[in-house]
Amino acid sequence: MRDKAKCYDCGMPYGGTNWVDLTLPNDQWDLVFPEHEGLLCANCIVKRAAKLGAISIEAKLKLPEDYLEAPNAK
Ligand SMILES: [Zn+2]
Repeated sequence: MRDKAKCYDCGMPYGGTNWVDLTLPNDQWDLVFPEHEGLLCANCIVKRAAKLGAISIEAKLKLPEDYLEAPNAK
């Protein structure tokens, strides 16, 4: 059984400094992640959506709270 506190595809830890929350409507989530066994990071959501081809993604993006204070953010 996979660790549900990590990205299902790449293993990035949920809530880590590189984690960006990307939330999709349920119908799009069903297409992107039919396994429904955990989480996907934003990168892996976009990769899977690209492989599906003609779907349009409407997503909410939540950046880490310290994102704008990071040295490379500007
Ligand atoms: Zn990932």
